Amino acid sequence: MTAPAPLLMIPGPVEVSPAVLAAAAGPPPGHLSPRVLEAFGRSIELLREVFQADGSSQPFILSGSGTLAMEMAAANLIEPGEAALVVGTGYFSDRMAEILRRHGAAVTQVTAPVGAVPPLAEIREALEREGPFKALFATHVDTSTGVRVDPEPLCRLAREAGVLSVFDGVCATGGERFAMDDWGADVCFTASQKALGLPPGLALLVAGERALTLRSLRQAPPPPLFLDWDSWLPIHRAYEERRPSYFATPATSLVMALAAGLDEILAAGVEARIAAHARAAAALRAAWEVLGLRQVPRSEAVTGNTLSVLHYPEGVDAGFLPRITARGVVVAGGLHPAIRTTSFRIGHMGYAITRPDYLQRTVEAVAEALREAGAPADPERAVAALVAGLGA
Ligand SMILES: *Cc1c(COP(=O)(O)O)cnc(C)c1O
Repeated sequence: MTAPAPLLMIPGPVEVSPAVLAAAAGPPPGHLSPRVLEAFGRSIELLREVFQADGSSQPFILSGSGTLAMEMAAANLIEPGEAALVVGTGYFSDRMAEILRRHGAAVTQVTAPVGAVPPLAEIREALEREGPFKALFATHVDTSTGVRVDPEPLCRLAREAGVLSVFDGVCATGGERFAMDDWGADVCFTASQKALGLPPGLALLVAGERALTLRSLRQAPPPPLFLDWDSWLPIHRAYEERRPSYFATPATSLVMALAAGLDEILAAGVEARIAAHARAAAALRAAWEVLGLRQVPRSEAVTGNTLSVLHYPEGVDAGFLPRITARGVVVAGGLHPAIRTTSFRIGHMGYAITRPDYLQRTVEAVAEALREAGAPADPERAVAALVAGLGA
């Protein structure tokens, strides 16, 4: 018998549910088959619910990873020479800035120390003094620092300045509250393998009416064909009406998984799913505290609920990660250059947060590995803190 697969507790790809696995299994269906038309059309409708977007918004489902969604946002919204404001939270906001530059944007970044979020006053000031900007870009949860921004006031500031607001929800959507319509956000995107709890391979983007209108008024040459919303709009409208259409072949097996996964998330409502992420994250934070592990985010208010980014304790380094792996749980090392060798990351998003046994195995593995590495850790007390938190 082969050894059981290790528990994947990295910030994506993540563990997926049996229903999602089953939906993706079997021979890949054709892209014009009734099953795929239904799954694709239904996914478009369900994505509006997950992003809390209104009927005038357009969800896009593309084959690719989160970075493709970032490219798509930049390619459709930015004309060469236009200015973009990036809220700096870490590695992924830096990536957004680099992508924007490659699409010809003049990028201004408002930065903050690692683990902090730039103050709203500084963002307002940049919007007032350094514009005019076409769009403000922010990372809802930055997976390199664990830092979470509050999108609502950013949307408001952007609105007041007449600027589009765009959110990278790759490590957040489905795990953190996001009310696209209520807040007036213009674009939000994610990828399948993070908080939505699906296999990797789909880039998911929702564009609001204002963003779609600005794309249609574009003066510059059109974006690359594959990234252009105009390439995809007729196909997505056809799929939503359950009519066959073709522009570029969708990842049909993943689209089947997407519909099943979104159904699962929405069975109890997206708010319940988000509350479950918050509960799991709080219980894990209690366990980390018992183990003496300090968070990289500087306060609870800016700590995302989809992952933990933790400093190594005194006397422990990356050499302790294989001790966790040896216990059948996979976590991730540091990503942000400033803390790459001094921090590690544990994903807790998607299906995993509905499985107290997964969370417990993770806490046990981390605690035992810490003890083995010579840190004063008490696995039983850590698990008790987790269990108490989950029960609360
Ligand atoms: C993972 C991630 C990305 C990039 O997504 P890929 O699927 O790896 O291309 C972008 N932004 C954030 C916040 C992420 O967590």
